[in-house]
This record gives sequence, C-alpha cells and structure tokens, in this order.
Amino acid sequence: MDTKNLIGLIDRYYEYRNLTRPTPEQAMMWAASELGECFDMLLSKHQWVRNNPDKHPPFTQVGFGEECGDLIMMLIVSAQGEGVDPFECLESKLLRKMGEVKQVEKTAKRYTKEETAEAMCDPKAGDVYSEMCVFWVLVADVNTNKVTIFETSANWGEAKKLTLTYEEFVDRYKYKSSSDYYVRLYHRGRTDLVEKVSKLYD
Ligand SMILES: [Mg+2]
Repeated sequence: MDTKNLIGLIDRYYEYRNLTRPTPEQAMMWAASELGECFDMLLSKHQWVRNNPDKHPPFTQVGFGEECGDLIMMLIVSAQGEGVDPFECLESKLLRKMGEVKQVEKTAKRYTKEETAEAMCDPKAGDVYSEMCVFWVLVADVNTNKVTIFETSANWGEAKKLTLTYEEFVDRYKYKSSSDYYVRLYHRGRTDLVEKVSKLYD
C-alpha cells in the first residue's frame, strides 16, 4: 500500500471509530505501549508466560505483524500531530545519507571542453561527467564495444543504467548534443564510485 493511502486510511479509521486524536506526546506514549505489546508477543515465543495469560495472546506471525502495525500507526499519528509525514522524512533522509556519492562534486576537477571530448573517445570505468552538478553521468564499465553508464540527477535519488555503443555514448553526451547544456568531465577512473553507485542502483 502506498504510504499516502495508508495515512488516509488511518485518518478514516479515526473518524470511523470516532476516536480522539492524541497529542504528538500522547501518541508517542501509545507507541511505547504498542512496543510493549510487540515485546509481549516475542517473549511468549520463548515460553515466558504473563499473569493472566488469557489476556496475552500467544505468538503468531500475523499477530506480531499487527502489533508492529499498531506501533507504526501511533508513530505516524505522533508525526502527523507535528505536521510531518514520517515516510517522506525517512525517504529523504535515506537518500541524503546515501548521497555520499554527491561528494564527487566537492572534489571535482574542472576539465576543459577539449579534455572532456578527449576522455569521451577513451572512456574508462569511473569517469564522471556532469552538467552543472545537476545531471551526472558515471561510466560503470567499458568493454570492447560497449559502455555501461549510470545517469542521475543532482540528488542521486534514482539512477538509470544504460549500455551504449561507443558511438552512442559520444553522441549522447558530446558538446552540443543538447542545444543549451553540455556535460563536462569531472573525474577520471573513480572506480570507488562505481562500486558505491552499483550497490545503490544496480
Ligand atoms: Mg496493539
């Protein structure tokens, strides 16, 4: 289920059950209480029995999943109370952390147009091209007649992997291949980046 739909469903559930919305603090306390229910389930797996065992259902995968769901719901309700979507925050944080490959722009050498053209005729794994640090091209692999590249935008959120012939590679990125912009060589032979980017997007 899409996270926006999930949040909408929680809203409808609150309306349907006529529930009072807890404050962010109260919702976080409920989350802690739901976390306790998750622990109860896990403990029952190891033959720990609570007082009044009839009130504490035994471990089942679905039951545990539902308790995890309750916990997630209360975390969402707490974040909602502060006006944020925790899924969006999580996504952007993960992308930001994985964006260590963005460090390429900080250490980039500004190669000339001529040096860029020369490098395109002799592509090597780890060559990095960019158009104004907004669009990036990383050469991942080169063999006898094919060049495999990753194309991505500034935030490195998603990358497209393409395998091109040498000619297609040069045609795609050479100066004036697009009327207003052109990529410029930023790094040569950064195989460390190929490894990182491949792990993220391959
Ligand atoms: Mg529960």
